[in-house]
Amino acid sequence: MTKIPYGRQDIDEADVNAVVEVLRSDFLTQGPVVPRFERAVAEYSGVEYALAVNSATSALHIACLALGLGPGDWLWTSPITFVASSNCALYCGAKVDFVDIDKHTYNLSPHALERKLVQAERDGRLPKIIVVVHLCGQASDLAAIHTLGKRYGFSIIEDASHAIGGRYQNRPIGDCRYSDVTVFSFHPVKIITSGEGGMAVTNSAELASRMSLLRSHGITRDPALMTHEPDGPWYYQQVDLGYNYRMTELQGALGLSQMARVDAYVGRRHELARRYDRMLKEFPVTVPWQHPDGYSGLHLYVIRLQLDAIKGSHKDVFKSMQAQGIGVNLHYIPVHMQPYYQSMGFKRGDYPEAEAYYSEAMTIPMYPTMTYDQQNLVMSALEKALA
Ligand SMILES: *Cc1c(COP(=O)(O)O)cnc(C)c1O
Repeated sequence: MTKIPYGRQDIDEADVNAVVEVLRSDFLTQGPVVPRFERAVAEYSGVEYALAVNSATSALHIACLALGLGPGDWLWTSPITFVASSNCALYCGAKVDFVDIDKHTYNLSPHALERKLVQAERDGRLPKIIVVVHLCGQASDLAAIHTLGKRYGFSIIEDASHAIGGRYQNRPIGDCRYSDVTVFSFHPVKIITSGEGGMAVTNSAELASRMSLLRSHGITRDPALMTHEPDGPWYYQQVDLGYNYRMTELQGALGLSQMARVDAYVGRRHELARRYDRMLKEFPVTVPWQHPDGYSGLHLYVIRLQLDAIKGSHKDVFKSMQAQGIGVNLHYIPVHMQPYYQSMGFKRGDYPEAEAYYSEAMTIPMYPTMTYDQQNLVMSALEKALA
């Protein structure tokens, strides 16, 4: 039985009241609360437009479509991410490729990216979109990737599912200074939650308008977007093929209420991470490297086992931690090693840094309501697991 999970949500009375208030109101969906949540995230992130949807996966999908991704196009991302970061390309009929990670940050390596772009230009298969994942909440090297984007003509989607509350170059992650769209996830294990939910933010009015159509069947009631004058006051038009990706008012209310605590959550995560850093000093593990100029959202605390200094295997350490009730996890199995991707031709050995990471990584529990006592339990379990 897991006594300490790797992550968990925090729900307070204000959250409960916010959701109950919606339940007693006139609108369970398409009411006034979701737009307020969108405003709150847009203002917090320093970005113009925000579109709430039912998951970050949906946000990635409509962002790709809005950027024109389709059959024959390529989308590149990091292999160390959740499968949604690359599946979005497949939804659009496009092809996926990966760029190996940096050995310190575990984010997509700008150097590996540049090498791959040089080759792709020769082969005539440059990517249309790069999905840049801010793994564990730490920003990728966006400035460098943006410069390459200008040179090679690709668009950038930031997958900031781990990163709301984090900062890059002293600005909020999600301000889209170096990207076309940023997406956030509000799944319960993430920094703030709306139960399920996600958001796409952008500074482009055009992308915002397209994503707004795509999240709701491609239907509009705005005469300016119609092909002709409305037939009458009942009229709406379907002008594109969209989806039902809308967020409910219940989710919006929970998300909006949680936004009030995003800074406190990330601050607490930093306290816990600093304490782990100190306590793990004498352990045969590598603690997460943190960019001195950045401020991570710290969604995850990933250690790498120094296997040559440990008796047991990677698997043994996981089993021991789990047997001791500690909910360790592995973020992530490299996407190219998933059977679905292997059937597309990806092989073990394609991305050596990602695979080396996979052979040593372990996420240990960290969440804002975690106590120092719970953290001490994780530490003593780890001491046993590594002995
Ligand atoms: C959680 C996650 C997603 C998907 O988020 P959902 O809201 O569950 O769809 C996408 N990318 C990354 C990196 C994630 O961690």
